[in-house]
Order: sequence, then C-alpha cells, then structure tokens
Amino acid sequence: MTITKTLAFVLALAPLLALAAPKNIIVMVPDGTGMATLTVARQVKGAPLTLDRAIYGAVQTASASSSITDSAAAATAMSCGARTTNGAVAMDTERRPLKTFGEWAKENGKAVGIVTTDTIVGATPSAFSVHAASRHDADTLIEGQIGSGFEVFLGGGRKHLTPERAEWLRARGYALPADAAGLREAKGKLFGLFADDTLTAMVERRSGKPCDEPTLPEMAGKALEILSQDPDGFFLLIEGAQVDHGAHVHDLPWSVYELLTFDDTVAQVLAFAEKHPDTVVLIAPDHETGGLTLSIPEPKPGARAEVIRSTTSKRGKGVNSKDWFVRYTTGGHTGVDVFLAGNDRDVRPFLNSDFPKALAGREPERLPELQGKTLQEGGAVWLETPDGKRLRANRDAVYVKETGKWYARP
Ligand SMILES: [Zn+2]
Repeated sequence: MTITKTLAFVLALAPLLALAAPKNIIVMVPDGTGMATLTVARQVKGAPLTLDRAIYGAVQTASASSSITDSAAAATAMSCGARTTNGAVAMDTERRPLKTFGEWAKENGKAVGIVTTDTIVGATPSAFSVHAASRHDADTLIEGQIGSGFEVFLGGGRKHLTPERAEWLRARGYALPADAAGLREAKGKLFGLFADDTLTAMVERRSGKPCDEPTLPEMAGKALEILSQDPDGFFLLIEGAQVDHGAHVHDLPWSVYELLTFDDTVAQVLAFAEKHPDTVVLIAPDHETGGLTLSIPEPKPGARAEVIRSTTSKRGKGVNSKDWFVRYTTGGHTGVDVFLAGNDRDVRPFLNSDFPKALAGREPERLPELQGKTLQEGGAVWLETPDGKRLRANRDAVYVKETGKWYARP
C-alpha cells in the first residue's frame, strides 16, 4: 500500500480500535476532593503528590436534576454513562435500572472488585455495583451486592451484614475477613467489612486511636492480588470516601490525611499498571465538597469573608497552617469542575457520564424487564416467572419496589 492508502486504512480502523476495552480497568474516586484540598495536602506532605503528575484534565459533574450533583447521581454517571436524578443509584430518571460498570465487566468475563473507606452501601460503591431508587435504601443495596457474584467487596458497613446474609455468602465460597490481619490471610472471593459504619478516619489512626481495620492501600493491594488472577482481566472501583466526610463538617485535617492516603493508593495502583500492560487507570472526584478556598492570612478590614484557622481536628491531630487561611463556603457539595487523572491521556471524558464510553466504548444500557407474579414469602419478596422459576428480590433479579417492576440482572 502507498503511504496515503495505509494512512486511510489506519484512520478507517481508528474508531474500531478505540472501542476495544482494555483488559484491566481501575476507576479511583476521591469523593468530594477539590483542587484546594490538593494544595493543602501537598503543603502538609512537604513534597509533590503522585496526583500532581497524573492530572491531565477536568470533568464536569452536573446531574440530571441539579447543577450540584450528589454522590449517587455522579457515580451513576461514571458507572452507567447517563446523568440521573440526585439520589438515584444506577437508575435513570424514570427509575429504570441502568447496567453498572461492574455488571458490564462481569458479563464480559472480567473479575470485579469494589473497595471503599465508606460503608459498602455508600452511594459511590453502590452505583458501580447495584441498583436502588434511593441511595438510603441500604437493604436493597446490600441484597444486590451479596447476590452480584462479584469477586471482591471491601469496606465498612458490617451492621448491614446480618448472620443470614453472612451465612449465604459463606455457602457461596466467600471469605469474610473482619480485620486487617484477616484480610492479609484471606484468599479467593472476599466480602470484607471492617467496621459497623464507615472505616476509622486516618486522622484518628494517626492520633493513636486503636484500630485493627485495614487502610485503603491495604484493601486495594489485596483486591489487585485477587482480581489480577483472572485471565480475562478485571474492573476495580477504589473509593477514598472520607475527603468528602471531612469537608461536610469543615474538618480540614480529616480531609487532608484521607487525601494523602488516597494519593499513596494512587502510587500503588499506577505501579501495578506499569507492571501489567493493558491496564487503564482513571481517577476523578465525583464532585467537590465544602467549597474550600485558600486566601491570604489577613483579609482587608471590613471584608466579610468568614476566615477559619482550620488547623485542628475534632478527630485528632491538626495540620500545620503556614501561610494560608482556609474558608469553607458550604456544608454541602459545589458545582465546580473536578480534576481528571490517570495513566492514559487518550482516555478523555469531559462529562462524568463520558466515563464508560471513554474507558471501554460502552453506551448506556437499560436492564431488560421481567414478567411474572410478585410474592411475599419467608420475609422476602420473590418473582414467580411464567416458566415457574422463583427469583429473590435483588439477590437474583433487580426489584424496584417503588414501581413494582422486575429486571434481569446481568
Ligand atoms: Zn460524593
């Protein structure tokens, strides 16, 4: 072929090549992290962050219902490729379930892992794995997660793991480690919940609070060890949830030490990706929380800025303030853009809902609806299908109680 013809041939192939999904896909979400938190964390560390070298873009975060997204709608966009109503978990604006990134990966023969410092039924881990009309519907979320068949769930939220659910998981070959030592020993499929609610904050651990829970890097390392054994590759979600939690209550040290630990996890994940070709790592916060700004030490007399010397933490040691004052502008989320980072600068989502397409050529997909009769039996809801099968709500099929409709889970 002539050079011109070769070029034309390559260009014709380019859209097809762009659709091929990488073998391993890792999405990392530092929940609620804005640029100002990065600035403070860098100063506290006294050295550049790993993220400093990995950031290459920005992401817009608005949801279908608000220019200020919540975590559920943001994670739904990143996982399913469609913007939705705040509060909805992997459902569209009409409460119809959308295929999650985890479900897509499983369908494509990949192993799936979900890792978080939040409870496992938090909005972010949930929207990458299961479905609920409301992010607060913990029972629906955990039922979906235990029935998902995913290989790894690690985080908090042990109070949701009833003895019946734990027994059900053990019968299906899951190990249920309860502390850091147990996690180190564990092999095979894992459902490890290490605290009744969210995991202990890093600022508390640094301040000497006794803690037998694993850290985010320890959980991520174990997930990579297990998932990387699948010859078809894997999908892994890693959420650093508590930058958001600190920002909601204006506790800067809480956020900063969570971000530094998240940054250590980024270093570990990027090192894994270097050793394992065809691994794409995409990192972006779901939104910014708190509206943190950094300003000069002495505001002009009469300026109405409410300046907080936020050097202490209600949870333990503070961070050293050098020459900045910090000011939070809200107790909630903001609508500002967030950073985009990762190991492949050709993966360029501009909206949070571009993630599935940019990562794997995926378009948003609704789950197929199922027909049958809804029954209540033995404290659970079931679907009796026309061919006489019984499917348990959320463990076997997605049941949207708000609409009374059933959907096949991938
Ligand atoms: Zn969030």
